[in-house]
Amino acid sequence: MATYEYRCADCGRFEVHLPIGSAPTVCDCPECHRAARRVFSSPHLTRVPPTLSAALSREEQSQEAPEVVTSLPPRQRRRPAHPAVSRLPRP
Ligand SMILES: [Zn+2]
Repeated sequence: MATYEYRCADCGRFEVHLPIGSAPTVCDCPECHRAARRVFSSPHLTRVPPTLSAALSREEQSQEAPEVVTSLPPRQRRRPAHPAVSRLPRP
């Protein structure tokens, strides 16, 4: 099955799931039942994960207006090591 996209002049775009290669050029609109023409669009290749999108946005912003640091960041508390780590041989 493949997803095909159609555009109704009155209701807008809608998707139809049909076997590959069987999509007609005109399909009935599910709302107004008028003929809707098939449209071609990119197959969900433009979806970017939110974390990657945020990283790309920060990178782009840092090119023009990098964040300026005026002081050292606060010291972070180190997590205590696992008790088994202290028993490991030291070099
Ligand atoms: Zn319609």
